[in-house]
This record gives sequence, C-alpha cells and structure tokens, in this order.
Amino acid sequence: MRTFRAFTLQSRLASAAHWPPRPVPAPADDLLRRCDASLMQRLPSAASTRHLLRFQHSEAVSPATDPEQNDRAVQVALEEAQIAARERGLTGAPVGRRNFGIAAHIDSGKTTLSERILFYSGRIRRIHEVRGKDGVGATMDSMELERERGITIASAATYLNWQRGFHLNLIDTPGHVDFTIEVERAMRVLDGAILVLCGVSGVQSQSLTVDRQMRRYRVPRLAFVNKLDRQGANPERVLEQIVNKLHQPAAFLTIPIGVERDLVGVVDVIRQQAVYFEGEYGEQLRIEDTIPSSLKSKADQARRHLIECLANVDERFGDLFLEHDYGVPEDAIHRAIRRATIARSFTPVYCGSALRNVGVQPLLDAVVNYLPSPVEVRSYAMQGDTEQRIQLEPDANASLVSLAFKLEDGRFGQLTYLRVYQGTLRRGELIYNARTGKRLRVPRLVRLHADQMEDIQEATAGDICAMFGLDCASGDTFTDEAGLGRRLSLESIRVPEPVISLAITPQGKTDAQANFSKALARFTKEDPTFRTYLDPESKQTIICGMGELHLEIYIERMRREYGVECQVGQPKVNYRESVSRRAPFQYLHRKQSGGAGQYAGVQGYIEPTLEAGYWTARPEDSETAESDRQAMSAVNTTSEEGGQAVAAQREATKRAAENEFVNALVGNNIPPQFIPAIERGFQDAVQEGALSGHIVQGVRMVLQDGKSHPVDSNEIAFRTAALMAFRKAFPQAGGVILEPWMRVAVQVPQEYSGDILGSLTKRRGTVVNSQTDGEYALIEADVPLSQMFGYSTDLRSMTQGKGEFTMEYLRHEPCTREDQERLIADYAALRKTKAND
Ligand code: GDP
Repeated sequence: MRTFRAFTLQSRLASAAHWPPRPVPAPADDLLRRCDASLMQRLPSAASTRHLLRFQHSEAVSPATDPEQNDRAVQVALEEAQIAARERGLTGAPVGRRNFGIAAHIDSGKTTLSERILFYSGRIRRIHEVRGKDGVGATMDSMELERERGITIASAATYLNWQRGFHLNLIDTPGHVDFTIEVERAMRVLDGAILVLCGVSGVQSQSLTVDRQMRRYRVPRLAFVNKLDRQGANPERVLEQIVNKLHQPAAFLTIPIGVERDLVGVVDVIRQQAVYFEGEYGEQLRIEDTIPSSLKSKADQARRHLIECLANVDERFGDLFLEHDYGVPEDAIHRAIRRATIARSFTPVYCGSALRNVGVQPLLDAVVNYLPSPVEVRSYAMQGDTEQRIQLEPDANASLVSLAFKLEDGRFGQLTYLRVYQGTLRRGELIYNARTGKRLRVPRLVRLHADQMEDIQEATAGDICAMFGLDCASGDTFTDEAGLGRRLSLESIRVPEPVISLAITPQGKTDAQANFSKALARFTKEDPTFRTYLDPESKQTIICGMGELHLEIYIERMRREYGVECQVGQPKVNYRESVSRRAPFQYLHRKQSGGAGQYAGVQGYIEPTLEAGYWTARPEDSETAESDRQAMSAVNTTSEEGGQAVAAQREATKRAAENEFVNALVGNNIPPQFIPAIERGFQDAVQEGALSGHIVQGVRMVLQDGKSHPVDSNEIAFRTAALMAFRKAFPQAGGVILEPWMRVAVQVPQEYSGDILGSLTKRRGTVVNSQTDGEYALIEADVPLSQMFGYSTDLRSMTQGKGEFTMEYLRHEPCTREDQERLIADYAALRKTKAND
C-alpha cells in the first residue's frame, strides 16, 4: 500500500509542478436547472438550496468534458446537498433512501446484527436472539424452520428509518451458499451492502463467494468486523485480510475500545472521539472527546492510515491532501469516503460486537452517509428485440419500470417483492407485465417487515415493496402502457444451473400426493434454482437444486408445511450432453402399412452453439477457454474491462446452456405448416440425449432441405423425422457427456493444508488459489461435483472438525473417458431392459 501511495503522490507532485491547477468549468446550464428544480421540489428553502447547490457544484462538477460524467457529478452533488441540508438542520429536509443488504459467511452474526438494526431504528421493541433462551428467535428469521435451525433461509425484507428522514430498506440474505439465488436476487436490487466478518475467523471461505457476488452486481459495501468480544478477536488481522484476500483498499472508521471481554465501545477515527454504548441494549450513546490514553497513538495512526488510503484512491482528495496534509477538513474526508465507496475503490471498516450491542449505530450512520442512494445508481432496461440498453431515470414522475425479484406464497396468496426503478407504482392503477403483455390492476401494495406488513398507497423510484394477488414469475418486468409500447424489460437475474438431483416419493396418507404436488408447484415458482420433473423410466419425481442442504430443506419444508413424508433416494449429479463439431443429417421417415402412410424427410446439420472445439478441448488448451479464464479472473477486478469480461463469460455460459433451432430452408420441399412439428421433434430430442439419456445443451439444429408427400406427410411424421435425424447425427457431431464443476473454497488451520491439497487433487481438483495467513490456510480449487460427495465428512475427520468448505457452480465440462463409457453402457443396458419388458 505504502509503495503505491508514494508512487501516486510523487506523480501528482510532478504533475502539479508542471501544470497550472485546472479550472473548474461551470456545469451545463440545463443540467444545473434540472438539478436545481429537482432539489427545490424537495427543499422548501429556495435560498438555502441555491446556496448549497452552488457550494456543492464548485466541488462536485469535474472538469471532464464527458457529459455523462458531468451528469453523474451533478447527481452526486444533489445527493450531497440533501445530506448537507439535513445535517444543517434545514426543516423539511428531503427523504433520502438506501436499499442495502447484509451478506456474510454463515454464523458471522448477520441475523444478530439485523436484530440490533431493527431495534435501534425503533422497528422492534425487544431484541430476540438467534436460538435465544426466550424461544422466540430473531425477528428476521420468520420461517419456523429458520428459527429452529438458527439459520436464515429466505431473505426477509424490512424497512426502517434512520437519522432524520432517511428511509432504509434492508434485505437479510441467507448465509449458506446453497441458497445462492437468494443472495443474488438481493444483490440485483440493492444499491449497497454490509459485509459482516467474524473478528476471530476473518475472511472465510464464503466471504469470498459473497465478495464475488458483490462484484458481479457492482454493489458498494461497508465491512463490519463483528464478534470482537470473542477470545482471539483481532480486528487488525481482519483488515489485512480484506486488503490482501479481497483485494480492496480498506481502512478503519471505528476501532474497538478494549477487545474480548474488555470491549466497551469504539473510537470514531475521523473525530477522534470515544463512543460508549449504554442502557440495557446499548441504545444510549455516550460520546466523549477524550479517548482512553492507551488508545491515543493507535487511533491517531488509524486516522492517518484512513487519510493516506483515501488520497490513494480518490484523486480529488489526493489534491486536498497535498494542500492540507493530515489536517484535511472533516467534511472533505466524509465526501471522499462517500465517493470512493460508491466507486467501489474503497471499503470503510467498522468494528464492534452485535451480540454485546457495541458499534452498530455508527455502522447504520455509515449506511446513510456512504452507501449510495437509488439516485446515484445507474440502472438500465433493454428495449424490444434489439436489446438496446437504455438508462432509467430514478424519477417518480417518469414512466413506470419495476422488477419482480422474489415470490413467496404467503397467508394471503402470492406475495411478489418488487423494486421500482423508475416512475411510481400506485395502488389501483393499471400496469403491464412486459414478458406476457398482460394488463393488471395493482392490488394491495405493502411494505414489509419480516413476516408482517404495512399497507401503502404508492411506491416511487428506488423503493422496494410487495404486491399481493399477482400472478407472475421471478424476474418479470412491470411497466405502464408507455413502457409496454417500448417493450422495456430489465435484465433477468442470473440463475445458476441446478447441479444435484434426488428421487423422492411421497409416503402415507391419501391426500399426500395432492399436497406433494402443491408443495412442488410452490417451491419451483419461488425458487428458480429448484426444479422438478417426472423420470419417465422410474416414474419417480426428481427434484434438482444447488446442493444437498438446499434439497434437504425443501424435503423438510414439505413435511412441516404440507404434512408430506418423503422417501428419499441417493443424490445424483446432473449430467448434460452436447456436441463438439458440426455434422450433417439427412433422414427420411417412411411408413406404409395400408391406409394413410407417414412420409417426411429432413436435411441439414447440427453444431455446437459455442465455437467449434469448445467442449472437446480441455480448458487449458483452447483459446475460448483462455478468454473464459480471463473472464473468470476478471470477476475479481473492479475495472470496466472486468465488467465486460464478466458479461462475456456469462454470455458464453448462457450460450453453452441453450439450444437453438434455425429454419434455413430454401425451396418448397417442406410445406411451411410442418416447420413447428420439426422444431418440436428437435425439442423432444434434446430432452433425452442419445448417449446417456441426459438433457442436451448447447446444440443448434439447422434445417436446410427435406422431402414431403402430398398425401402421406403429416405433423407426426415430421416430428419423428426430426427426432431420429438428430439422434443419428449426434455421435457424428462428437457427442460428449458433461458434468458440473464447482469452485470449492476450503478453510483449514495451516497444519492441515498439505492434506487438503492432496485430498482435492485426489478428487481431480485443480487448485486455483492457495493462501496462508497466520493460523489459517484458504485453498480454492475447481473440482467435479461427482467427486465432492461425502467431502464434508472427510474434511471433518481430516481436520478434527476444524475445517470448513463452500462450493459454487462454475460450469459444465466434459467428463472423463471412463465415466463417459460407463454412463453410455448404463444407458444402453437400461434401454435393453426396457425393450425386453
Ligand atoms: P448468521 O448465520 O450470520 O445470521 O449469524 P447469527 O446472527 O445467527 O449468529 C451466529 C451465532 O453467533 C449466534 O449464536 C449468535 O448469538 C452469535 N453471535 C452473533 N454476534 C456475536 C457477537 O458479536 N459476539 C459473540 N460472541 N457471538 C455473536
């Protein structure tokens, strides 16, 4: 860090010596007018507004000639003016908003922290602990199962007010990686997040996963180092890990007064004041200007480090630092933190203990002060078939665009969580589902507080709310008529492929089957990573999901909420099939057995939707894989190119998973009315791969020619012809069986790291990252899921229960030749038995 700083400061000094200071041009007139008008609407005191605005502009508007950059600078100025207005006690200060979430490794204390946040903001009158003695459970864990297991499954939404007039929407996200979709959905609609880290364990395996998700959705964050009351707590070590493992410039904004059992408060690093948390639940703040003498030099050092860090990441602050040294005005420090946090080039770090009620209120202040308001976040919608991106205006008066990001079956029917991105959603008004074109009247509109709700009349741009009695799917966009005309839709949420499946059969009571179907229908609608189908061979219901715990929870919910006991089979890996090169097909389906015959001929080729050779080449050999790898590593960068590379990676994964039918017919050999039947034949074929019976992905079927008969050709004949043509061409097209690979992160005490590396390599894993840090080693590897069954038991015995691991789906890749041969032989045997039956 220090070397970097020296370099930037030196180069800045050099540039200051050579060039005169840059003039700050006035912002474009219309921009100023817009900004001013918008601010005046919310601030009654015009004089103060103008004053504030002028004051803000002189700093906020950058000399960039790029109008977009200027526009953004004015947006920032607007928001800063609002904060300043509030801080200066102007009456009628505007209502600010923050949509934020809390994400972390399991057991770090997210739920405990949420409980404090709700209590301090006056949303709840008592604090109930996770697995507390009062048996009530934490407020945000409303599902019975959550309260019992002490984990958060479904993310619960709630809102609260903090400071004067600030309206905060909080989404609590689940900690277990099997519930990734919940975390991803939350990230998609949030503008900022708190990353909770344990003061003893620091950056853990799942912190890395959550960090990746935050980067994927470009979510600015604050870090909270929790559990500093625990023995062995070491906040400095955690800060170091944020910098080194998460590669984020970071600095303390508060440091603890005492650690472990002596933790009594925190020092506000900027103001150099001591903050003590008194009262039964630490709700009364006592602020003292003198900090304990034993902490003076540490606190001063923390302040210097903060200023240096900001000078490195924020150019404007760097200039101020050159001018004022460590005496930069407090106001400028706040602004720099805010700018750098929103730019995701800096993470402010707060210290405390949620359970001991220490350090939470300053963290909430930081949510307001440093995380962005919806006005500052750019959101885009796609327009029509061209998928042209258009920027949305977070303006209540613009036309409506909102996203359904989560569904839940509640006591009063389907509850749909929505984020409004543009315009206003009003109760009783007409809105349109952009996907289906369906028109509906906004029924009951509510604001949520865990499992309770409050009726509201409207929700405006930037707000999160929920609607009742709405039939839609997760990821649907709602607009008004104007939006529907422009066919606006928001990007859909990235849904990972389910990687594991189980056969389940309902047992017992006669109504079990009906309840079983009802439960499955509900779960699949709520959770896109949970899928279900009937196995045509065994006639068993198969459920698929993201991991063993994920499916286990649904089986348990089935029992509790629907009274259905299930017999459960062994978990199985979700294989897929694909092709690796182009192969032609020419097939004539002809049957003549008296009466009307069947006659249909199809000709064309099948090919991979991805570049040729994608599946056959091992990732390390192919160019495509190289760009994939770069894209994957770019997930860990914050740059624009990184963002583009991530988009490319996601696009590649999407293409790899989709099938495509192309009608390239020339001439009239096939009458057009049979084309849909041919496409249906292709859809039948991809449902059951020719090699092992698994679903086919990433294949394009191109129809070029065919044959028909005026009397004997019909839809069934063409459907069959397409199915058979596909099956026959599949082996020639280099058919491969694919298996899911996972990114596995293992954290163990250092002495076991050798054993762990061995165990991962034995499971065909490729180690991609291995770091040691004090006592712990953190190892990341890519491993086939088929090799990961039973790993938790092995890890426990290898490390005497001291190791832990998480895994996340990476992509499907060809399985080994032996596995492929085994799967093909099993499938052939199955078909033979079936034929004999
Ligand atoms: P989550 O899984 O991240 O939601 O974590 P929880 O809030 O459920 O907390 C996990 C466990 O850690 C619970 O037993 C909490 O009581 C405990 N815990 C939470 N915060 C603290 C803390 O600040 N200090 C200590 N000692 N324990 C804590």
